[in-house]
Amino acid sequence: MQRILIIEDNQTLAKLIAKKIGVELDFEIDIAYRLSEAKLFLSRYNYFVVLTDLNLPDSPEGEVVDYLLQKKQRVVILTSNIDKNFRKQMLQKNIIDYIKKSGAQDIKYIISMLRRLLINQKHTVLVVEDSMPMRNRYKNMLENLFFKVVTVAHGEEALGFLQNNPKVSLVVTDYNMPVVDGLELTRELRKEYDKNDLPIVAVSSSEDEEILALFLKNGANDYIKKPFSKEEFHCRINNTIEAYENLHAVLNSANRDFLTGLYNRRYFFAHIDEYITKAEKEYLGLYIGMIDIDNFKSINDKYGHDDGDRAIVALSEILRTNTNQQDIVARFGGEEFCVALLAESDEIASNAFERIRKSVASFSFAAHNGEQIVLTVSVGVAKYEREEGIDEVINQADMNLYEAKKSGKNRVVFKKD
Ligand code: GH3
Ligand code: MG
Ligand code: MG
Ligand code: MG
Repeated sequence: MQRILIIEDNQTLAKLIAKKIGVELDFEIDIAYRLSEAKLFLSRYNYFVVLTDLNLPDSPEGEVVDYLLQKKQRVVILTSNIDKNFRKQMLQKNIIDYIKKSGAQDIKYIISMLRRLLINQKHTVLVVEDSMPMRNRYKNMLENLFFKVVTVAHGEEALGFLQNNPKVSLVVTDYNMPVVDGLELTRELRKEYDKNDLPIVAVSSSEDEEILALFLKNGANDYIKKPFSKEEFHCRINNTIEAYENLHAVLNSANRDFLTGLYNRRYFFAHIDEYITKAEKEYLGLYIGMIDIDNFKSINDKYGHDDGDRAIVALSEILRTNTNQQDIVARFGGEEFCVALLAESDEIASNAFERIRKSVASFSFAAHNGEQIVLTVSVGVAKYEREEGIDEVINQADMNLYEAKKSGKNRVVFKKD
Protein backbone atom coordinates (compact mmCIF):
# COMPACT_ATOMS: atom_id res chain seq x y z
CA MET A 1 0.00 0.00 0.00
CA GLN A 2 1.27 3.50 -0.73
CA ARG A 3 2.20 5.74 2.18
CA ILE A 4 1.63 9.33 3.16
CA LEU A 5 3.76 11.23 5.64
CA ILE A 6 2.22 14.04 7.64
CA ILE A 7 4.68 16.42 9.33
CA GLU A 8 2.83 18.64 11.78
CA ASP A 9 3.65 19.64 15.33
CA ASN A 10 0.02 20.20 16.25
CA GLN A 11 -0.70 16.62 17.30
CA THR A 12 -4.47 16.93 17.37
CA LEU A 13 -4.57 18.36 13.88
CA ALA A 14 -2.08 15.80 12.55
CA LYS A 15 -4.15 12.93 13.93
CA LEU A 16 -7.36 14.41 12.62
CA ILE A 17 -5.96 14.76 9.10
CA ALA A 18 -4.52 11.22 9.23
CA LYS A 19 -7.82 9.80 10.40
CA LYS A 20 -9.87 11.54 7.72
CA ILE A 21 -7.50 10.49 4.95
CA GLY A 22 -7.46 6.93 6.29
CA VAL A 23 -11.25 6.70 6.19
CA GLU A 24 -11.53 7.92 2.62
CA LEU A 25 -8.43 6.57 0.90
CA ASP A 26 -6.24 3.47 0.92
CA PHE A 27 -2.99 4.82 2.35
CA GLU A 28 -0.67 3.85 5.17
CA ILE A 29 -0.17 7.08 7.09
CA ASP A 30 2.79 8.08 9.24
CA ILE A 31 2.89 11.16 11.44
CA ALA A 32 6.02 13.08 12.41
CA TYR A 33 5.79 15.95 14.90
CA ARG A 34 9.15 17.42 14.03
CA LEU A 35 11.69 17.42 11.20
CA SER A 36 14.05 15.02 12.99
CA GLU A 37 11.27 12.42 13.20
CA ALA A 38 10.37 13.00 9.57
CA LYS A 39 13.98 12.27 8.61
CA LEU A 40 13.77 8.89 10.31
CA PHE A 41 10.55 8.01 8.47
CA LEU A 42 12.03 9.14 5.17
CA SER A 43 15.02 6.90 5.64
CA ARG A 44 12.70 3.90 6.04
CA TYR A 45 9.86 4.41 3.60
CA ASN A 46 8.97 5.79 0.21
CA TYR A 47 6.11 8.23 0.25
CA PHE A 48 3.45 9.01 -2.31
CA VAL A 49 3.13 12.52 -0.95
CA VAL A 50 4.44 14.36 2.11
CA LEU A 51 2.06 16.86 3.73
CA THR A 52 4.05 19.29 5.80
CA ASP A 53 3.57 22.16 8.13
CA LEU A 54 6.07 24.99 7.66
CA ASN A 55 6.88 25.92 11.22
CA LEU A 56 8.12 23.06 13.31
CA PRO A 57 10.11 23.18 16.54
CA ASP A 58 13.26 22.19 14.63
CA SER A 59 12.37 23.97 11.40
CA PRO A 60 11.17 27.44 12.35
CA GLU A 61 11.60 29.05 8.93
CA GLY A 62 10.19 26.35 6.67
CA GLU A 63 13.55 24.59 6.27
CA VAL A 64 11.61 21.35 6.11
CA VAL A 65 10.45 22.16 2.58
CA ASP A 66 13.93 22.44 1.12
CA TYR A 67 14.94 19.29 2.92
CA LEU A 68 11.99 17.37 1.42
CA LEU A 69 12.58 18.71 -2.08
CA GLN A 70 16.22 17.80 -1.86
CA LYS A 71 15.10 14.28 -0.94
CA LYS A 72 12.96 14.29 -4.11
CA GLN A 73 9.68 14.12 -2.22
CA ARG A 74 6.38 15.34 -3.58
CA VAL A 75 5.42 18.08 -1.17
CA VAL A 76 2.14 19.66 -0.15
CA ILE A 77 2.47 22.54 2.28
CA LEU A 78 -0.06 22.97 5.06
CA THR A 79 0.18 26.31 6.71
CA SER A 80 -1.57 29.03 8.60
CA ASN A 81 0.77 31.61 7.08
CA ILE A 82 -1.27 33.46 4.51
CA ASP A 83 1.24 36.16 3.69
CA LYS A 84 0.98 36.68 -0.08
CA ASN A 85 4.65 37.09 -0.81
CA PHE A 86 5.63 34.16 1.31
CA ARG A 87 3.06 32.03 -0.47
CA LYS A 88 4.37 33.14 -3.83
CA GLN A 89 7.90 32.35 -2.80
CA MET A 90 6.88 28.86 -1.69
CA LEU A 91 4.92 28.20 -4.87
CA GLN A 92 8.03 28.95 -6.88
CA LYS A 93 9.58 25.87 -5.38
CA ASN A 94 8.79 22.52 -6.86
CA ILE A 95 5.86 21.78 -4.57
CA ILE A 96 2.47 20.36 -5.53
CA ASP A 97 0.27 22.67 -3.54
CA TYR A 98 0.08 25.22 -0.74
CA ILE A 99 -2.92 24.74 1.49
CA LYS A 100 -4.13 27.06 4.17
CA LYS A 101 -5.15 25.10 7.25
CA SER A 102 -8.21 26.60 8.75
CA GLY A 103 -10.91 24.01 9.02
CA ALA A 104 -12.68 20.86 7.92
CA GLN A 105 -13.10 22.23 4.41
CA ASP A 106 -9.34 22.15 3.94
CA ILE A 107 -9.12 18.50 4.92
CA LYS A 108 -11.78 17.77 2.31
CA TYR A 109 -9.66 19.62 -0.20
CA ILE A 110 -6.59 17.58 0.75
CA ILE A 111 -8.51 14.35 0.27
CA SER A 112 -9.88 15.34 -3.12
CA MET A 113 -6.40 16.44 -4.15
CA LEU A 114 -4.88 13.10 -3.11
CA ARG A 115 -7.64 11.26 -4.95
CA ARG A 116 -6.90 13.38 -8.02
CA LEU A 117 -3.19 12.56 -7.82
CA LEU A 118 -3.91 8.83 -7.54
CA ILE A 119 -6.00 8.94 -10.70
CA ASN A 120 -3.49 11.11 -12.57
CA GLN A 121 -1.05 8.19 -12.48
CA LYS A 122 -3.19 6.51 -15.13
CA HIS A 123 -3.02 9.38 -17.59
CA THR A 124 -0.36 10.20 -20.13
CA VAL A 125 0.03 13.85 -21.14
CA LEU A 126 1.73 14.79 -24.39
CA VAL A 127 3.56 18.13 -24.20
CA VAL A 128 4.24 19.87 -27.51
CA GLU A 129 6.68 22.73 -27.06
CA ASP A 130 9.77 23.81 -29.01
CA SER A 131 11.59 25.59 -26.20
CA MET A 132 13.56 23.16 -24.13
CA PRO A 133 13.38 25.10 -20.82
CA MET A 134 9.60 25.42 -21.18
CA ARG A 135 9.32 21.77 -22.10
CA ASN A 136 11.14 20.86 -18.93
CA ARG A 137 9.03 23.18 -16.87
CA TYR A 138 5.80 21.55 -18.12
CA LYS A 139 7.28 18.12 -17.61
CA ASN A 140 8.22 18.99 -14.05
CA MET A 141 4.85 20.45 -13.17
CA LEU A 142 2.93 17.57 -14.72
CA GLU A 143 5.11 14.85 -13.25
CA ASN A 144 4.72 16.50 -9.90
CA LEU A 145 0.99 15.89 -10.34
CA PHE A 146 1.78 12.23 -11.07
CA PHE A 147 0.98 12.32 -14.78
CA LYS A 148 3.05 10.27 -17.16
CA VAL A 149 4.60 12.82 -19.49
CA VAL A 150 5.90 12.60 -23.04
CA THR A 151 7.45 15.69 -24.65
CA VAL A 152 7.96 16.51 -28.33
CA ALA A 153 9.35 19.64 -30.02
CA HIS A 154 6.66 20.44 -32.59
CA GLY A 155 3.31 19.50 -34.06
CA GLU A 156 4.57 17.05 -36.63
CA GLU A 157 6.38 15.05 -34.00
CA ALA A 158 3.19 15.09 -31.94
CA LEU A 159 1.13 13.71 -34.84
CA GLY A 160 3.71 10.99 -35.40
CA PHE A 161 3.76 10.07 -31.75
CA LEU A 162 -0.03 9.89 -31.48
CA GLN A 163 -0.25 7.65 -34.51
CA ASN A 164 1.72 4.96 -32.69
CA ASN A 165 0.58 5.72 -29.15
CA PRO A 166 -3.13 6.38 -29.09
CA LYS A 167 -3.28 6.12 -25.29
CA VAL A 168 -2.69 9.80 -24.58
CA SER A 169 -5.31 11.45 -22.33
CA LEU A 170 -4.38 15.08 -22.88
CA VAL A 171 -2.31 17.26 -25.21
CA VAL A 172 -0.73 20.47 -23.93
CA THR A 173 0.52 22.50 -26.87
CA ASP A 174 2.41 25.71 -27.42
CA TYR A 175 1.38 27.97 -30.32
CA ASN A 176 4.62 29.16 -31.93
CA MET A 177 6.62 26.18 -33.12
CA PRO A 178 8.57 25.23 -36.24
CA VAL A 179 7.23 22.77 -38.87
CA VAL A 180 3.66 22.40 -37.55
CA ASP A 181 2.48 25.02 -35.05
CA GLY A 182 -0.02 24.54 -32.24
CA LEU A 183 -3.00 25.76 -34.20
CA GLU A 184 -2.31 23.50 -37.17
CA LEU A 185 -1.76 20.64 -34.77
CA THR A 186 -5.13 21.31 -33.15
CA ARG A 187 -6.85 21.37 -36.55
CA GLU A 188 -5.17 18.13 -37.59
CA LEU A 189 -6.03 16.37 -34.35
CA ARG A 190 -9.66 17.45 -34.53
CA LYS A 191 -10.01 15.67 -37.88
CA GLU A 192 -9.43 12.44 -36.06
CA TYR A 193 -10.39 12.93 -32.43
CA ASP A 194 -13.20 15.02 -31.04
CA LYS A 195 -12.98 17.14 -27.90
CA ASN A 196 -14.09 14.29 -25.69
CA ASP A 197 -11.69 11.73 -27.10
CA LEU A 198 -8.57 13.82 -26.78
CA PRO A 199 -8.67 17.09 -24.87
CA ILE A 200 -6.24 19.82 -25.93
CA VAL A 201 -5.01 22.68 -23.75
CA ALA A 202 -3.23 25.41 -25.74
CA VAL A 203 -0.65 27.75 -24.25
CA SER A 204 0.42 31.04 -25.79
CA SER A 205 1.55 34.49 -24.82
CA SER A 206 -1.04 37.05 -23.91
CA GLU A 207 -0.28 39.36 -26.89
CA ASP A 208 -1.98 37.00 -29.35
CA GLU A 209 -5.59 37.78 -28.40
CA GLU A 210 -7.03 36.44 -31.63
CA ILE A 211 -4.95 33.30 -31.38
CA LEU A 212 -6.83 32.47 -28.22
CA ALA A 213 -10.15 32.66 -30.04
CA LEU A 214 -8.76 30.70 -32.98
CA PHE A 215 -7.60 27.91 -30.71
CA LEU A 216 -11.01 27.63 -29.11
CA LYS A 217 -12.81 27.80 -32.47
CA ASN A 218 -10.62 25.04 -33.80
CA GLY A 219 -11.42 22.73 -30.97
CA ALA A 220 -9.01 23.38 -28.10
CA ASN A 221 -10.72 22.55 -24.80
CA ASP A 222 -8.98 25.30 -22.86
CA TYR A 223 -6.33 27.97 -23.20
CA ILE A 224 -3.61 29.23 -20.87
CA LYS A 225 -1.95 32.62 -21.33
CA LYS A 226 1.78 33.01 -20.73
CA PRO A 227 3.03 33.94 -18.23
CA PHE A 228 0.94 31.74 -15.97
CA SER A 229 1.16 30.71 -12.34
CA LYS A 230 1.68 27.14 -11.30
CA GLU A 231 -1.69 27.16 -9.56
CA GLU A 232 -3.54 28.32 -12.66
CA PHE A 233 -1.78 25.67 -14.71
CA HIS A 234 -2.69 22.95 -12.19
CA CYS A 235 -6.31 24.03 -12.03
CA ARG A 236 -6.81 24.20 -15.78
CA ILE A 237 -5.15 20.86 -16.38
CA ASN A 238 -7.14 19.22 -13.60
CA ASN A 239 -10.42 20.71 -14.80
CA THR A 240 -9.84 19.51 -18.32
CA ILE A 241 -8.89 16.01 -17.20
CA GLU A 242 -11.87 15.85 -14.85
CA ALA A 243 -14.32 16.82 -17.57
CA TYR A 244 -12.80 14.12 -19.77
CA GLU A 245 -13.10 11.52 -17.00
CA ASN A 246 -16.67 12.45 -16.13
CA LEU A 247 -17.78 12.02 -19.68
CA HIS A 248 -16.05 8.68 -19.96
CA ALA A 249 -17.59 7.52 -16.69
CA VAL A 250 -21.04 8.22 -18.12
CA LEU A 251 -20.20 6.42 -21.37
CA ASN A 252 -18.76 3.54 -19.40
CA SER A 253 -21.80 3.12 -17.22
CA ALA A 254 -23.93 2.83 -20.35
CA ASN A 255 -21.56 0.30 -21.93
CA ARG A 256 -20.50 -1.78 -18.99
CA ASP A 257 -22.03 -4.25 -16.65
CA PHE A 258 -22.13 -2.93 -13.10
CA LEU A 259 -21.21 -6.12 -11.24
CA THR A 260 -18.23 -7.25 -13.32
CA GLY A 261 -17.13 -4.16 -15.24
CA LEU A 262 -17.32 -6.21 -18.44
CA TYR A 263 -19.02 -4.83 -21.52
CA ASN A 264 -22.77 -5.32 -21.62
CA ARG A 265 -25.01 -6.62 -24.36
CA ARG A 266 -25.71 -3.12 -25.61
CA TYR A 267 -22.03 -2.45 -26.18
CA PHE A 268 -21.54 -5.82 -27.84
CA PHE A 269 -24.18 -5.20 -30.48
CA ALA A 270 -23.19 -1.57 -30.98
CA HIS A 271 -19.57 -2.51 -31.71
CA ILE A 272 -19.59 -5.95 -33.27
CA ASP A 273 -19.63 -4.48 -36.81
CA GLU A 274 -16.31 -2.71 -36.21
CA TYR A 275 -14.98 -6.00 -35.01
CA ILE A 276 -16.18 -7.80 -38.12
CA THR A 277 -14.48 -5.19 -40.32
CA LYS A 278 -11.27 -5.65 -38.37
CA ALA A 279 -11.43 -9.44 -38.80
CA GLU A 280 -11.91 -9.07 -42.55
CA LYS A 281 -9.11 -6.56 -42.90
CA GLU A 282 -6.68 -8.79 -41.05
CA TYR A 283 -7.88 -12.01 -42.72
CA LEU A 284 -8.77 -13.54 -39.38
CA GLY A 285 -11.76 -15.62 -38.40
CA LEU A 286 -14.27 -14.16 -35.95
CA TYR A 287 -15.54 -16.65 -33.40
CA ILE A 288 -18.42 -16.21 -31.01
CA GLY A 289 -18.47 -18.20 -27.77
CA MET A 290 -21.58 -18.27 -25.58
CA ILE A 291 -20.56 -19.24 -22.06
CA ASP A 292 -22.95 -20.25 -19.29
CA ILE A 293 -22.16 -21.37 -15.74
CA ASP A 294 -23.26 -24.92 -15.01
CA ASN A 295 -25.80 -25.54 -12.25
CA PHE A 296 -25.54 -22.00 -11.08
CA LYS A 297 -28.88 -22.14 -9.34
CA SER A 298 -27.49 -24.72 -6.95
CA ILE A 299 -24.54 -22.45 -6.12
CA ASN A 300 -26.94 -19.66 -5.24
CA ASP A 301 -29.10 -22.07 -3.25
CA LYS A 302 -26.23 -23.62 -1.36
CA TYR A 303 -24.03 -20.59 -0.66
CA GLY A 304 -26.33 -17.61 -1.05
CA HIS A 305 -26.69 -14.86 -3.61
CA ASP A 306 -23.56 -13.00 -2.42
CA ASP A 307 -21.28 -15.91 -3.12
CA GLY A 308 -23.16 -16.39 -6.40
CA ASP A 309 -22.24 -12.83 -7.32
CA ARG A 310 -18.63 -13.44 -6.37
CA ALA A 311 -18.60 -16.49 -8.62
CA ILE A 312 -19.79 -14.31 -11.50
CA VAL A 313 -17.05 -11.77 -10.80
CA ALA A 314 -14.42 -14.53 -10.55
CA LEU A 315 -15.54 -15.94 -13.89
CA SER A 316 -15.34 -12.51 -15.48
CA GLU A 317 -11.71 -12.24 -14.30
CA ILE A 318 -10.88 -15.61 -15.83
CA LEU A 319 -12.47 -14.54 -19.11
CA ARG A 320 -10.49 -11.31 -19.11
CA THR A 321 -7.15 -12.95 -18.40
CA ASN A 322 -7.69 -15.70 -20.97
CA THR A 323 -8.55 -13.41 -23.85
CA ASN A 324 -6.63 -10.71 -25.70
CA GLN A 325 -7.09 -7.02 -25.08
CA GLN A 326 -8.76 -6.69 -28.48
CA ASP A 327 -11.35 -9.44 -27.91
CA ILE A 328 -14.82 -8.46 -26.75
CA VAL A 329 -15.86 -10.04 -23.47
CA ALA A 330 -19.43 -9.20 -22.54
CA ARG A 331 -21.87 -10.23 -19.85
CA PHE A 332 -25.11 -10.83 -21.66
CA GLY A 333 -27.13 -11.26 -18.50
CA GLY A 334 -27.33 -13.46 -15.39
CA GLU A 335 -24.58 -16.05 -15.57
CA GLU A 336 -24.28 -15.92 -19.33
CA PHE A 337 -21.33 -14.38 -21.16
CA CYS A 338 -20.39 -13.83 -24.75
CA VAL A 339 -16.83 -13.71 -26.04
CA ALA A 340 -15.96 -12.54 -29.56
CA LEU A 341 -12.43 -13.44 -30.50
CA LEU A 342 -10.26 -13.26 -33.58
CA ALA A 343 -8.20 -16.31 -34.56
CA GLU A 344 -6.24 -17.65 -37.50
CA SER A 345 -8.03 -20.98 -37.57
CA ASP A 346 -10.90 -23.01 -36.13
CA GLU A 347 -8.40 -25.03 -34.17
CA ILE A 348 -6.83 -22.01 -32.52
CA ALA A 349 -10.24 -20.62 -31.60
CA SER A 350 -11.37 -23.96 -30.28
CA ASN A 351 -8.23 -24.26 -28.16
CA ALA A 352 -8.79 -20.79 -26.75
CA PHE A 353 -12.28 -21.68 -25.55
CA GLU A 354 -11.07 -25.02 -24.25
CA ARG A 355 -8.41 -23.14 -22.28
CA ILE A 356 -11.10 -20.93 -20.77
CA ARG A 357 -13.18 -23.97 -19.82
CA LYS A 358 -10.20 -25.64 -18.14
CA SER A 359 -9.14 -22.49 -16.27
CA VAL A 360 -12.62 -22.18 -14.84
CA ALA A 361 -12.77 -25.83 -13.80
CA SER A 362 -9.38 -25.73 -12.10
CA PHE A 363 -10.17 -22.55 -10.17
CA SER A 364 -11.82 -22.42 -6.77
CA PHE A 365 -12.52 -19.77 -4.18
CA ALA A 366 -13.65 -19.69 -0.56
CA ALA A 367 -17.35 -19.29 0.13
CA HIS A 368 -18.52 -17.29 3.13
CA ASN A 369 -19.04 -20.54 5.04
CA GLY A 370 -15.40 -21.50 4.40
CA GLU A 371 -16.10 -24.22 1.84
CA GLN A 372 -14.33 -24.08 -1.52
CA ILE A 373 -16.59 -23.28 -4.46
CA VAL A 374 -15.72 -24.91 -7.76
CA LEU A 375 -17.37 -23.77 -10.99
CA THR A 376 -17.69 -25.24 -14.41
CA VAL A 377 -18.94 -23.67 -17.61
CA SER A 378 -20.43 -24.92 -20.84
CA VAL A 379 -19.44 -23.18 -24.05
CA GLY A 380 -21.08 -23.05 -27.47
CA VAL A 381 -18.87 -21.73 -30.26
CA ALA A 382 -19.70 -20.62 -33.81
CA LYS A 383 -17.71 -18.97 -36.56
CA TYR A 384 -18.92 -15.80 -38.22
CA GLU A 385 -19.65 -16.17 -41.92
CA ARG A 386 -20.28 -13.13 -44.02
CA GLU A 387 -23.39 -14.46 -45.72
CA GLU A 388 -25.07 -15.25 -42.40
CA GLY A 389 -24.95 -12.11 -40.28
CA ILE A 390 -24.17 -11.84 -36.61
CA ASP A 391 -27.60 -12.85 -35.28
CA GLU A 392 -27.42 -16.19 -36.99
CA VAL A 393 -23.93 -16.83 -35.66
CA ILE A 394 -25.03 -16.07 -32.13
CA ASN A 395 -27.99 -18.32 -32.63
CA GLN A 396 -25.71 -21.14 -33.77
CA ALA A 397 -23.45 -20.59 -30.73
CA ASP A 398 -26.55 -20.74 -28.50
CA MET A 399 -27.60 -24.03 -30.04
CA ASN A 400 -24.13 -25.41 -29.46
CA LEU A 401 -24.30 -24.25 -25.86
CA TYR A 402 -27.59 -26.09 -25.47
CA GLU A 403 -25.90 -29.15 -26.94
CA ALA A 404 -23.02 -28.82 -24.44
CA LYS A 405 -25.49 -28.69 -21.54
CA LYS A 406 -27.50 -31.63 -22.84
CA SER A 407 -24.46 -33.83 -23.34
CA GLY A 408 -23.17 -33.45 -19.77
CA LYS A 409 -21.96 -29.79 -19.23
CA ASN A 410 -18.36 -28.62 -18.54
CA ARG A 411 -17.53 -28.86 -22.24
CA VAL A 412 -17.03 -26.87 -25.43
CA VAL A 413 -19.19 -27.63 -28.46
CA PHE A 414 -18.17 -26.17 -31.79
CA LYS A 415 -20.04 -27.56 -34.74
CA LYS A 416 -22.09 -26.45 -37.67
CA ASP A 417 -25.62 -27.67 -38.40
P1 GH3 B 1 -27.46 -24.86 -16.25
O1 GH3 B 1 -26.27 -25.70 -15.94
O2 GH3 B 1 -28.46 -25.56 -17.09
O3 GH3 B 1 -27.07 -23.57 -16.86
O4 GH3 B 1 -28.15 -24.59 -14.88
P2 GH3 B 1 -28.30 -23.23 -14.11
O5 GH3 B 1 -28.73 -23.51 -12.72
O6 GH3 B 1 -27.06 -22.44 -14.25
O7 GH3 B 1 -29.47 -22.60 -14.97
P3 GH3 B 1 -30.34 -21.34 -15.02
O8 GH3 B 1 -29.91 -20.55 -16.18
O9 GH3 B 1 -31.74 -21.84 -15.05
O10 GH3 B 1 -30.15 -20.53 -13.69
C1 GH3 B 1 -29.40 -19.42 -13.60
C2 GH3 B 1 -29.57 -18.81 -12.26
O11 GH3 B 1 -28.67 -17.73 -12.12
C3 GH3 B 1 -30.94 -18.24 -12.02
C4 GH3 B 1 -30.69 -16.92 -11.30
O12 GH3 B 1 -31.27 -16.91 -10.03
C5 GH3 B 1 -29.20 -16.83 -11.16
N1 GH3 B 1 -28.70 -15.52 -11.44
C6 GH3 B 1 -28.92 -14.75 -12.52
N2 GH3 B 1 -28.27 -13.57 -12.41
C7 GH3 B 1 -27.61 -13.59 -11.23
C8 GH3 B 1 -26.77 -12.67 -10.54
O13 GH3 B 1 -26.46 -11.56 -11.01
N3 GH3 B 1 -26.28 -13.03 -9.33
C9 GH3 B 1 -26.56 -14.24 -8.79
N4 GH3 B 1 -26.04 -14.54 -7.60
N5 GH3 B 1 -27.37 -15.14 -9.39
C10 GH3 B 1 -27.89 -14.82 -10.60
MG1 MG C 1 3.44 24.42 13.44
MG1 MG D 1 -26.35 -21.79 -16.09
MG1 MG E 1 -28.39 -19.43 -17.78
